[in-house]
Amino acid sequence: MDAPLIVAVVGSGPAGFYTAGALLDRTDLNVWVDMYERLATPWGLVRAGVAPDHPKIKSVSSVYAKIAAHERFRFFGNVEIGVDVDRTELIERYDAVVYTVGAQTDRKLGIPGEGLPGSVAAVDFVGWYNGHPDFTELRFDLSCKRAVVIGAGNVALDVARILCSPCEQLAKTDIADHALDALCKSAIEEVVVVGRRGPAQAAFTTPELKELSEFTQSGVVVDPGEVAELAGEDALPRVVKRNLAVLRGYAADGTPLGKRHITLRFLRSPVEIRGAGRVEEIVLGRNILRVGEDGWVSAQDTGERESLETGLVLRAVGYRGVPIAGLPYDDHKGIIPNSNGRVRDGEREYVAGWIKRGPTGIIGTNKKCAVETVTQLLADLDSGALRRHSHMDTDGIESWLATRQPHLVTEQGWQLIDAVERAAGGQSGRPRVKLRGRKELLDVALGRANAEISGG
Ligand code: NAP
Repeated sequence: MDAPLIVAVVGSGPAGFYTAGALLDRTDLNVWVDMYERLATPWGLVRAGVAPDHPKIKSVSSVYAKIAAHERFRFFGNVEIGVDVDRTELIERYDAVVYTVGAQTDRKLGIPGEGLPGSVAAVDFVGWYNGHPDFTELRFDLSCKRAVVIGAGNVALDVARILCSPCEQLAKTDIADHALDALCKSAIEEVVVVGRRGPAQAAFTTPELKELSEFTQSGVVVDPGEVAELAGEDALPRVVKRNLAVLRGYAADGTPLGKRHITLRFLRSPVEIRGAGRVEEIVLGRNILRVGEDGWVSAQDTGERESLETGLVLRAVGYRGVPIAGLPYDDHKGIIPNSNGRVRDGEREYVAGWIKRGPTGIIGTNKKCAVETVTQLLADLDSGALRRHSHMDTDGIESWLATRQPHLVTEQGWQLIDAVERAAGGQSGRPRVKLRGRKELLDVALGRANAEISGG
């Protein structure tokens, strides 16, 4: 058999695990996969992005656990590429490096007042309620009566639903304890979700739309005028027709609103956020739709304005990839330019997932995306475009890494975290209780704590 092929996968979210799986599934190859992760924990957005009240979606992590159990797979957590280890050092040591780092930041609105306290990225709020260590120290003021969420995608619906869910219901999930505590004390009575185009152009999907009333046990308010019959409706995609049916159901629903409720608004764009030292009001501009020559439907400002009193504005207008030093970057799309996953002008470097194609699709979309990248990588190996190193030393890599990051978290370390969190969950009827903050996670992973959970 040939010398082993050793691949570094940078990022341990769905795209990373599907890349590892596609490589390790190849019975004709002697391949090793080392997965690098900046955090002490794997699974990316499955742990820190998927809403806590979506346990079915999260259960895909059992697929990743199976891949991680492969004898030729290693997890190297708490290692940041570009900080602990340089990109060039990976190229020197691996036959190929696949970046699956996702889209790690949020898109901005670019309107006056966006920087006021109380105007925040939904991505940060999601990280906070999911116990992502970068966001645990954030504080969100939930003392106002109305929150406004900008965007008509699934993240917008996630945050609206979490803000309106009954405390007892959230308490059964793996939501971070600090978020549970704050949400249970929240004074918010209404969450207004604002889409800049019409209901037929909304990015959210039907199950998520239905959950708004099912999970919050509250009415959802939709203005019947905003979901009126559209010309040529029969020709619309199925998902749009389903969405319209649910929205019309909400519009017709006469059930009284619960303690909290969600209002869905369409054809409104945020124009300005106002307030003396913090968010007090958001100004919305009314839009009409315009169909371009290419068929694209865009929102056009009518100049009409309305304003809503609010203390919390969450922008859920999409994620955005961040550049990797030394690799090309497409600033417009927020991706690393590539051809079927092979990085343009890269050295034995590939990409998969959101950093390859942008922040779209469901978790499963990343499987197909990763398979395409692995297929390209192996074709490059066959054609000789990618040449193996002759001096592979898998043990050497681990000892080298230990000199760079003395607090290296291996698969074993992650297993300790997982066991502690699940055991704590078992005691309170929850799937897990997440350890709070980086220090606690490292204490458990590195055996510095006897599973006792102390603050911060
Ligand atoms: P998304 O699906 O791209 O939605 C972004 C929304 O923001 C769109 O409605 C977009 O409107 C709007 N928007 C963009 N720029 C805006 C601006 N300047 N002003 C006002 N509105 C603006 O993004 P996402 O919600 O972050 O979701 C990312 C991906 O994760 C999606 O594929 C999503 O389906 C997936 N996801 C899935 C789930 C789930 O399955 N439960 C949960 C969360 C996320 P336009 O269409 O007009 O641009």
